Amino acid sequence: MNRIPHYIDGKRIDAASATAPVFDPATGLQQAEVVLAGPADVAEAVRAARAALPEWRATSLSRRADIFFRLRHLLTERRDDLARLITAEHGKVLDDAAGEIARGLETVEFAAGLIHLLKGEFAEQISRGVDVHQVKQPVGVVGCVTPFNFPAMVPLWMVSSAIACGNTVVLKPSEKDPSAAVLLAEIFSEAGLPAGVLNVVHGEKETVEAIIDHDDVAAISFVGSTPIAESVYRRAADHGKRVQALGGAKNHMVVMPDADLDAAADAAVSAAYGSAGERCMAVSVLVAVGDIADQLVGKVAQRISSLRIGAGTDPDSEMGPLITAQARDRVAGYVAGAAGEGATVVVDGRETPFDSDGYFIGVSLIDHVRPGMKVYDDEIFGPVLSVVRVDSYADAVRLVNANQYGNGVAIFTRDGKSAREFEFDIEVGMVGVNVPIPVPVGSFSFGGWKKSLFGDSHMYGPESIHFYTRSKVVTTRWPDASESQINLGFPSNR
Ligand code: NAD
Repeated sequence: MNRIPHYIDGKRIDAASATAPVFDPATGLQQAEVVLAGPADVAEAVRAARAALPEWRATSLSRRADIFFRLRHLLTERRDDLARLITAEHGKVLDDAAGEIARGLETVEFAAGLIHLLKGEFAEQISRGVDVHQVKQPVGVVGCVTPFNFPAMVPLWMVSSAIACGNTVVLKPSEKDPSAAVLLAEIFSEAGLPAGVLNVVHGEKETVEAIIDHDDVAAISFVGSTPIAESVYRRAADHGKRVQALGGAKNHMVVMPDADLDAAADAAVSAAYGSAGERCMAVSVLVAVGDIADQLVGKVAQRISSLRIGAGTDPDSEMGPLITAQARDRVAGYVAGAAGEGATVVVDGRETPFDSDGYFIGVSLIDHVRPGMKVYDDEIFGPVLSVVRVDSYADAVRLVNANQYGNGVAIFTRDGKSAREFEFDIEVGMVGVNVPIPVPVGSFSFGGWKKSLFGDSHMYGPESIHFYTRSKVVTTRWPDASESQINLGFPSNR
């Protein structure tokens, strides 16, 4: 059985006795086992990261930038290998895997501009003969914990900025599809990153807690489901650590009566069912405003009938399987319960036949959904699109703002005024105007509001530079000896 090792201090480490199975979601067969890190392995990874820190933070910015330029080149060259690895363990189609690498590359490109990003500020003559400047220094060893649904992109979101800022990292990827993180770490090494700057350990709850609790870990970046994001946030905060914990989502797409309904239906189908709905920015609620609902539901249903579902390695597939049998059964359970809650199941994904033991389920479309139904209230994280019918724009805004999540949202309209009002009114971190999955480009930052993010910094982009650095302000004076005097008053700059 292929074993997936840790990557510590520039080496693959495979000494653990505890392992977890890694499945091929397209066949349901175990394809590998991943070694799990206990507290001793975590301590070893943190030790390596701590030991590498002084030299790495002293490394010149131009040398660091060189590594990111080489990394960009190598990731582009190895994109297909990385995509195949993602598809093998996650199940998403190859195109989609390549897309996640492309989005991850944006954050590498952003990090390559570190010489500009790490510039501080300077104020001359703040008092007579006194200058003040502010520098950004690394926080130290950063623990990064990532979810299964983007096994390369989310690690790149965190690791690129953390390392660019002069920190060293212990990354704990999802145990369900851990290989991409190990390959990424090896590609970073190939690009010239010194041993110990980026370490990867595998594991589950116990491993994450050992990282959070370790005295030498200064900050935690987490992405995953809301209950775990919240518990990670609390635990890290209890230890006095800097923490950002991004959680789950329930993303609404509001379709105004004036929207182009064909374009809206295309966008809804793409954003709801791409990657089998296992994206934190997937559209899971379609909000039909006014009297367009029947037409819109008809157009979405019509498009669903031609979707091709199959193994991610098959170039004809547009959607692959879910990550595990449990995930597939959980999704099926929501669809099964919807009619009993008063909703109308227009397309039932459980009825799609599959000639495979993989974790496949067809796509579902559920109409007449309302808050209070489980299918609306919970994050399903699968290929299920709910339709909520509302009378007016104001009702649509009330619905979205009352939702516990606030990751992404979109409005489809041809009216600039409604779009502008929506942007102003809506309580969600990332907003699309005629864009269904408004993931910000790498030079902006990514983050939700409400239960989609615990902490105050968004990920990658400018907010990541803020998160991964500590500000130090230096006040400087070079007086002549003759100016020296004793003065017990509080220094005034006047
Ligand atoms: P998850 O919460 O189950 O796991 C996330 C990470 O936490 C994994 O590395 C996992 O091993 C670890 N973990 C699991 N249980 C833990 C525990 N009890 N204590 C500490 N760590 C634990 O999430 P997932 O199923 O891997 O990913 C899907 C979820 O992630 C969805 O809810 C999705 O919306 C969310 N997500 C959010 C974003 C975002 O940017 N907001 C991005 C991607 C995914």
